[in-house]
Amino acid sequence: MNVLITGGAGFIGSHLADHLLGDGHRVAVLDDLSTGTFDNIEHLASNPNFTAVLTSIFDETVLAEQVDRCDTVVHLAAAVGVKLIIDAPVRTIETNVGGTELVLRHANQSGKRVLLASTSEVYGKRTSVPFAEDSDLVIGPPHHNRWAYACSKAVDEFLGLAYWKEQRLPVVIVRLFNTVGPRQTGRYGMVLPTFVRQALAGEPLTVFGDGLQTRSFTDVNDVVRALAGLLEHPRAAGNVFNIGNPEETTIRGLAERVKQATGSASTIVTVPYDEAYESGFEDMPRRVPDITRIRNLIGWKPRLALPAIVERVVAHMRDA
Ligand code: UDP
Repeated sequence: MNVLITGGAGFIGSHLADHLLGDGHRVAVLDDLSTGTFDNIEHLASNPNFTAVLTSIFDETVLAEQVDRCDTVVHLAAAVGVKLIIDAPVRTIETNVGGTELVLRHANQSGKRVLLASTSEVYGKRTSVPFAEDSDLVIGPPHHNRWAYACSKAVDEFLGLAYWKEQRLPVVIVRLFNTVGPRQTGRYGMVLPTFVRQALAGEPLTVFGDGLQTRSFTDVNDVVRALAGLLEHPRAAGNVFNIGNPEETTIRGLAERVKQATGSASTIVTVPYDEAYESGFEDMPRRVPDITRIRNLIGWKPRLALPAIVERVVAHMRDA
């Protein structure tokens, strides 16, 4: 296959590029390096099956050309990271809605299969876990920017499914739960690289809220295995799939595990949400995926459990 990955110089995109090239596919990456970095793809530069096009998905001439050349588009380019989303709400909504609109329009013009990355954020503040793909989405009020992110990705899903329904464009939607691993940066707020950086620097680990909120962390290698499996599966189109680890952990438990894995003497401090993000910030108390659908279709489940996931991140950040 010729695969175009938008956002391919990002954390997940660059791992997907590695995986697909390893399977013998050709990969083109389209990335404006806004949150991705050239470092993530530098090791691929000499691979004859790899191309990097360093511009925005809003550069429509280039986008159209790249979509034309590929068989499949994996659309990962998006504004991500709770911190970035809170700080730059206009950019978040315009990138996530406008960017996806363009990608789908061009893919539709040339009839190319699309794998659209969405997020577990779309479940919003739903409290009954696990979250199944057909569950209701529970979104908070519009003056909290976090929900703009959830809504922008939900609109992407609606649009993708509309193209499938109306035009029979093969669109696969994936809802990624907290994905972690080497190359992820804490710059945009992600908790695990933030804790590991703090622990290695001997700084306090900043647990937001009471730390009893849970998340389910999945290693990026497991995630790209799921993406590659769905890309090739003929019955994936027109469906939404959760990709995540059903095993949950509290954020305080994660901080303790990071301290243990790094042997750090750092303290663990709690920071109120209002201070960490913005006044009135709403977090979700638990987030657990139901992965029955993807398991039934392609037999996928995550292989790596939390201790090994944390070890891998610690080893990577020590090296860096
Ligand atoms: N978090 C934290 N300390 C940090 C960064 C994040 O306690 O330095 C918390 C955050 O409030 C959330 C969880 O860790 O409850 C996961 O945050 P992240 O931004 O990684 O992803 P989210 O699941 O919120 O999208």
